[in-house]
Amino acid sequence: MPIATVNPADGRTLKTFDPLDEKDIERRIATASSAFADYRSTGYARRAELLRRAAELLERDRDSIARTMTTEMGKPLAQARAEAAKCAKTMRWYAENAERLLADELPRPEDVEDSGAARVRVVYRPLGVVLAVMPWNFPLWQVVRFAAPALMAGNVALLKHASNVPQTALYLEDLFREAGYPPGCFQTLLIGSGAVEGILRDSRVSAATLTGSEGAGRSVAAIAGDEIKKTVLELGGSDPFVVMPSADLEQAARTAVTARVQNNGQSCIAAKRFIVHEEAYEAFSVYFTAGMRALTVGDPTAEGTDVGPLASEQGRADLEELVEDAKAKGAVVLCGGERPAEEALAAGWYYPPTVLAEVTPEMRIHREETFGPVACLYRVPDISAAVSVANDTSFGLSSNVWTREEAEVARFERSLEAGGIYVNGMTASHPAFPFGGIKRSGYGRELAGHGIREFCNATTVWEG
Ligand code: NAP
Repeated sequence: MPIATVNPADGRTLKTFDPLDEKDIERRIATASSAFADYRSTGYARRAELLRRAAELLERDRDSIARTMTTEMGKPLAQARAEAAKCAKTMRWYAENAERLLADELPRPEDVEDSGAARVRVVYRPLGVVLAVMPWNFPLWQVVRFAAPALMAGNVALLKHASNVPQTALYLEDLFREAGYPPGCFQTLLIGSGAVEGILRDSRVSAATLTGSEGAGRSVAAIAGDEIKKTVLELGGSDPFVVMPSADLEQAARTAVTARVQNNGQSCIAAKRFIVHEEAYEAFSVYFTAGMRALTVGDPTAEGTDVGPLASEQGRADLEELVEDAKAKGAVVLCGGERPAEEALAAGWYYPPTVLAEVTPEMRIHREETFGPVACLYRVPDISAAVSVANDTSFGLSSNVWTREEAEVARFERSLEAGGIYVNGMTASHPAFPFGGIKRSGYGRELAGHGIREFCNATTVWEG
């Protein structure tokens, strides 16, 4: 993939970048490695001061970086601004909480005594240079979600961002530099994915985190496994959104629309499969389809746009293929399902909000992730069937259930195979709660204490 800014709203290439050559990469790894040697011994107070300064600068730049994101990947401008604000909030949260989350742990006195020690502590130390391979869909957030805890723990970062968001990637390096981080603490590498292996095999790089597709995750994890290096993988999702008869159906449908089309439908934690009890099905599908149909598709920089273009021509082609396959196998299109006809949208990579009913396991869309505003509706007779359809996926990122019955909540909580269960609401990450998946959605956790400890060495200090 060329490293370039190509506006998905009109397909025009605005700026291209040369990838770093081997010498540049070597120099940057060396800079990261020597930065770590010093940065690891800074105290939490200094690290927090730097991260708070980065948060302030990000807030200062909110409008301009939001515009850059929208230009590079097409999300509606208001959502881009909200993304920048969430990043600043998360930086502050880690600045405030990292020291507490990484405080020394003291085992129970009876266990200390049993080990024959006078004193035992478990201390958390940084791992070193961490390579972050990141996707374009939340081009600031995915990076900050990793970088804020990693930097607070004393690690340093090398960012290989997606090739279609180079200006956002460069902005991030500038941001941390301007905030006062020592050179080498956070560097952006403008490289293609082919250069990842060499970096990951370099002995000065300790670990990697990847957010992206299953294929990319498999490749990075295989190389890291070969090198015995720690990885965290945040991969795809096909989250269920289960609606039971006791739910507030209008509210559920309104939330379902947002949960499906946020970020133009290109979110790993978007609800993608809507699994509705037969007693609620007719009403829910009417509300939901009406809500999807009412959305404004168009220029992502215009006020009032709900859904912008998909980020790439290939992404739209992949989505269209899934819809066409489903249609050919008998899915019923309740809305959307064809490229928009408007002249004004012809040059961009637009796809309309689409609802498909009568989806069956033979259709590719039943198994594969829909990375765009396409929803699949399923009708189920009872809670057992709802759980079974919800878990009938290779993914396990998050899940949503709508019910007012406590017993049903308890049943879903015990049975759903996912890293999150959101009851009467939609999945949204928060810095204080762990985030991540199981099955082919990946492993490891980001955010909260779980996230900051992923790239730490939990060291037992035993004193006789
Ligand atoms: P992608 O193609 O996997 O790209 C993600 C990153 O991986 C990019 O930087 C890409 O670089 C790089 N990459 C691709 N193939 C690679 C390889 N073989 N070795 C090393 N690096 C490689 O993902 P995408 O299609 O852009 O993003 C969408 C996917 O990400 C969806 O499946 C989505 O669900 C998932 N996602 C997951 C989460 C989560 O938190 N679980 C969050 C957001 C997105 P290039 O751009 O240069 O190819």
